Amino acid sequence: MTTVGILGGGQLARMLALSGAPLGLRFRVLDTVADACAGQFAPLIVGDYRDESALTEFASQVDVATFDFENVPAESAQWLSARIPVFPNPRALGIAQDRLAEKTLFRELGIPVPDFADVPDRAALDAAVAAIGTPCILKTRRLGYDGKGQFRIKTPGDVEAAWDALGAQAATVGLILEGFVPFDRELSVVAVRGRDGEFRAWPLTENWHVDGVLSASLAPARVDADMAEHAYAHARALADALDYVGVFALELFCRDGVLLANELAPRVHNSGHWTIEGSETSQFQNHLRAVLGLPLGDTRMVGHACMLNWIGTMPDASGVLREAGGHWHDYGKEPRAGRKVGHATLRAETPAELAEALARVGAALGREAQVSPVVAVLAS
Ligand code: ATP
Ligand code: MG
Ligand code: MG
Repeated sequence: MTTVGILGGGQLARMLALSGAPLGLRFRVLDTVADACAGQFAPLIVGDYRDESALTEFASQVDVATFDFENVPAESAQWLSARIPVFPNPRALGIAQDRLAEKTLFRELGIPVPDFADVPDRAALDAAVAAIGTPCILKTRRLGYDGKGQFRIKTPGDVEAAWDALGAQAATVGLILEGFVPFDRELSVVAVRGRDGEFRAWPLTENWHVDGVLSASLAPARVDADMAEHAYAHARALADALDYVGVFALELFCRDGVLLANELAPRVHNSGHWTIEGSETSQFQNHLRAVLGLPLGDTRMVGHACMLNWIGTMPDASGVLREAGGHWHDYGKEPRAGRKVGHATLRAETPAELAEALARVGAALGREAQVSPVVAVLAS
């Protein structure tokens, strides 16, 4: 009996546990809160990620550890890796936790990135804004997610407000300034690398964000073979450089046919949720296979899939459940503004059928605005 330990007990851990059940796997989840939604399917250990007694209890109960949460303290990942196998490795996790380190690595590997500069203090911010120009975005180097810890500087007159909002964090989590990319669209590569270095990627996904939070994902993204090859080559170079084991996502901006790397998510990713129903092997199962050293599953997809995120509150499910290719995921969380509480995936044989299903679901759930950019792409 193999037990997989997961640091972080949110919906990603929950979906990992659900996908591991057919493999006969057991799970233990460490989270700071007792109502973590993965706890509904896997025994939960409640404790701080830095608390040695919680980590000791966790390590004693699992054969291998992985993450649902990328901001686990690097020292805790190190501490665990001295005792049990930890995938991805703590170095990879540490680099992906720091926007400056990850962008520096992207650049070293020849992966194009937006302009960026370290911002250790106020003078450095002025210099960086002068060098990069406006518009630009000031971001925390660490601990940001769902667009939190970011300030958009539209004109030099916004610098003061940006520093008021984030300056105090320069000394704690660090700050980075990035050029604002007027992208045509956002894409992600979700990929997996096994313990033996085998690399597989799912078809590219196109993503739409609202207020910095993922709203919808479409796969396969409409890209030419050349662009897809570039994206896969970037993902593979990164995974090899980090000796990465498990699933990860590389977020990309596409502008005038050029790809710029935004960030690396060192875990299963929201833009890969469609793989549960839309692909031969889901990102969740392949992540487990990778960390356990099992053969990786096929990443081919059948047809076309669109995932819609539910933020804050769950809509009524029936409009999705009525669809032949409709799949509903309720994470069992309390509703809260801005919180990811569930998602739906629609799958269809053709782009036209997917567009029709999306239009029906948009109307039934009152989510026309959410589905409309996806329908527009499918119709083009
Ligand atoms: P995630 O939830 O994906 O981890 P995050 O908080 O780490 O989000 P980013 O991915 O850096 O933040 O930014 C969130 C979104 O904000 C991006 O997907 C993109 O839509 C927009 N954005 C971020 N950086 C830039 C940029 N340099 N230029 C243009 N848009 C950007
Ligand atoms: Mg991020
Ligand atoms: Mg992101």
